[in-house]
Amino acid sequence: MQVHIASTLERPDCSSCGSAARIKQTMRRRLVDLPSFGRPVVTVWRQVRWHCPAPVCSAGSWMQTDDRIVIGNRGITDRAARWACEQVGRHGRSVTEVAADLGCDWHTVNRAAIAYGLALVDDPDRIGPVTTLGLDETAFVRLGKFRHRLWSTQLVGDGQLLDVVQGRDAAPACAWLAARPETWKAGIEWVTLDLSGSYRAVADTMLPDAAQVADPFHVVRVANERLDEVRRRVQNETLGHRGRKTDPLYRTRRLLVMADERLDDNARERRRGLLAAGDPKGQVADAWTAKEAVREIYRIGDPDLALQWVTELADTLDDRFYSPEIRRLGRTLRRWGPQIAAWHASRASNGPVEAVNNLAKRIKRVAFGITNWTHWRVRVLLYAGRPDWTKLATITPAAP
Ligand SMILES: [Zn+2]
Repeated sequence: MQVHIASTLERPDCSSCGSAARIKQTMRRRLVDLPSFGRPVVTVWRQVRWHCPAPVCSAGSWMQTDDRIVIGNRGITDRAARWACEQVGRHGRSVTEVAADLGCDWHTVNRAAIAYGLALVDDPDRIGPVTTLGLDETAFVRLGKFRHRLWSTQLVGDGQLLDVVQGRDAAPACAWLAARPETWKAGIEWVTLDLSGSYRAVADTMLPDAAQVADPFHVVRVANERLDEVRRRVQNETLGHRGRKTDPLYRTRRLLVMADERLDDNARERRRGLLAAGDPKGQVADAWTAKEAVREIYRIGDPDLALQWVTELADTLDDRFYSPEIRRLGRTLRRWGPQIAAWHASRASNGPVEAVNNLAKRIKRVAFGITNWTHWRVRVLLYAGRPDWTKLATITPAAP
């Protein structure tokens, strides 16, 4: 379907000499527009090329512009570009899908979504005061023959994705925080961390007055990772090969990581039986007990008791009697003891961990396969960064 339009703007004056401009030429500029009656629409704008008639003037000719129709040299009308930005950014639809609605190519939609979206995500009002700041990493894409991973650091404030910075080292997150006003940083009471040293360095240097909290999800995950390592090592030592479907230890891998209270008596019995068959020295059973003891930390209500528990657990596990994986878990607990126990004092203000984890999952799904950093940043912030969508109608898109 085609719609033919012409601009109603007044005839302009030449910007260098002030003479009334004359029409040099009328073009038919084709612009992707909003679908109508379920069909893609192309708007054909009779766009004028003006010229200055004054013989002594050097202005020459110039194209008519009308921001109500289209901004810049896009192939899509302003209203369709704003609509595309909302479809892709707010509703998390794929660019391909939106391009199909509009009957145009991928690039036209993507360019519009990024340009209008950038204006929304860089709106200074988007980020308000924050009391709990979380730092977490995501591999946002795998590239090339070796599936090389590109990392992104998420900065989450009270459940809102504030921003993402490239990589997972301390420097980019430090730079981001350095650019924030001092008063904003002073309002942060808690910093939640996964168990990585680089984010701890960010908190140490940039937010020295905030209390550090180890994220419970990551603490339990570390315990599960050590358990998994022990299981695979014992498997290899006893049977001389990697886990196969019929091996008792391989069959127990899910039962081991599941929370004990979620298993029924049958499943517990099966776990005991499989361990008796595949774990002659009881090393896997020890690692399982250690993992459950770590989970126990979060059943304690009192912060002082929690710290005592973590400290004792660290000493118990870091013992010659245990296998190296378990001892390593003990050292991790010792290194992060105060941060782990700080969760008990902070949890009132700490957003539910699941919400943040689901956020990360949604981000990956929405941005699947994106390799361009700016595209990734704009897409995830439009989706999970709570931009003010009421401003979409009036913002000025970023160039290009
Ligand atoms: Zn002129």
